Parts: sequence; C-alpha cells; structure tokens
Amino acid sequence: MATFIVLLGPPGVGKGTQAKILSEQSGLVHISSGDLFRENIKNQTELGKLAQTYMTKGELVPNDVTIAMIRERLHHPDCKKGAILDGFPRTPAQADALENMLHEFDGHVDVVPFITAAEDILVERLSARWTCRANGHIFNEKFNPEKEAGKCDFDGSELYQRDDDKAETVKRRIDVYLDQTSPLISYYRDHDKLVEIDGMQSIEQVTRDLLNALKN
Ligand code: ADP
Ligand code: ADP
Repeated sequence: MATFIVLLGPPGVGKGTQAKILSEQSGLVHISSGDLFRENIKNQTELGKLAQTYMTKGELVPNDVTIAMIRERLHHPDCKKGAILDGFPRTPAQADALENMLHEFDGHVDVVPFITAAEDILVERLSARWTCRANGHIFNEKFNPEKEAGKCDFDGSELYQRDDDKAETVKRRIDVYLDQTSPLISYYRDHDKLVEIDGMQSIEQVTRDLLNALKN
C-alpha cells in the first residue's frame, strides 16, 4: 500500500523546507502544488495562465483544476510508493478528492503533521524567503542563508523573491489559510491522523520532531 504524508500548516511555516529534507531521508517523492503551478507559469501553459491570476492576489486556484493537476501528477510512476504532499489539500473539497483518488491506486494518508507558528513569525520568514529558479530550493536571508550570495547551494541556479511574498499578499494568503485551509485541522484530527509540530524551533529540531511523528 502506498503511503501519503500530508504536510499541513500556514504559509511560511516550513512545509517546503521540511518536505525536501523528509523526501531525501524517506525516498518518498516531494509534491508541491505551488511548485507545480509555478512550473506551469514558467512554461506558459493554459493552466499556468489561469493559476497566475489567482496566485498574484494570494487567492486559491479553483478546486477542479488543482485536483486535476494533482491527480495527473500522482499517476506518475515515481508515486508508486507514495508521496509527501506539500500545499495540497488546502480545502475540504480537495481533502475529499484526495481520499477518493487514493482508492484508485491503493494508497492512504498515513500521518498529517500540522506545523504551527505565530503569525508575526510567518510574515518575517516569508519576507526574507529566497527561492531557486531551477528546482524551488528554499533559503532565507535571516534564518537559512545560501552559501554564495544569490546562488542556490544545490544546483547553482539564480535565487529570486516570489511575487506573492510581498507584505500585502502575505497577509491575504494567511487570511485565506485561516478561512479555507484551517478547517482541515479538525478534518484530519477527527480521522486520528493529525500530529502537531512546533514550527518555531530550528529547522533541524522540526525535522527531528517530524521524523519521530512519522515513526510512531
Ligand atoms: P512553506 O512551504 O510552509 O510556505 P518554507 O519551507 O518555504 O514554508 O519556509 C518559509 C521561509 O522560512 C523560508 O525562507 C525558509 O528558509 C524559512 N524557514 C523554514 N523553516 C524555518 C525554521 N524552522 N526557522 C527559521 N526559518 C525557517
Ligand atoms: P506557500 O508554500 O508559501 O504556502 P505555495 O507555493 O504552497 O505557497 O502556494 C502558492 C500559491 O499557489 C497559493 O497562494 C495559491 O494561489 C496556489 N496554490 C498552491 N496550492 C494550492 C492548492 N492546493 N489549492 C489552490 N491553490 C493553491
């Protein structure tokens, strides 16, 4: 049976950072809905053009196109053993769709780590986030700087600041999270899958807590 780990938590809490580390350690592929949308924007696909109109405002891309994109991705052979899902599901409709899709390929959601941090910390982290063009590797000018200024440690590509990481958009994204995504906390708690993780600790300590949660 394939194992799916859903990382839940507000924008800026460290889901992408931790997903990349967990993916290396577990061998499960990291699937970020935001990265998939940004890839589509880069390639100027129809989906990318549509997604961009929502992303620049900090709004969610509609459920139907998001669900279709993820279903297509989960059918790739590298998801046979499962995946670490980062940024999906983000609404109750997406969570229901995920349950239904997983039936299609004998998978189940194993654990849902819910990473938390205070709102002022999220804003501070996002305003200092730098992302790599080639593969979405994540850095932070205050908390996790790259070794050589402006260059990704892993693939040497250029680092950039995401458009939606500016202060007004970040505020909107946090409100959208509280309104549309936070209902998933009780959804997964009711299914006995939720494990709360303190995201205000160091990156290394958060990883240790996550690995513990996944072991149990
Ligand atoms: P998310 O995917 O949840 O939006 P990211 O993983 O992109 O979050 O992290 C947001 C920013 O905060 C990045 O710049 C990242 O380097 C930084 N960051 C992640 N985890 C921590 C942490 N535990 N302490 C300090 N900064 C962190
Ligand atoms: P962060 O890691 O900072 O939370 P993401 O990269 O996950 O940001 O998402 C960036 C944007 O992409 C979101 O603000 C939203 O517009 C869109 N997006 C990503 N995932 C989803 C999703 N599951 N449903 C709808 N929109 C999404």
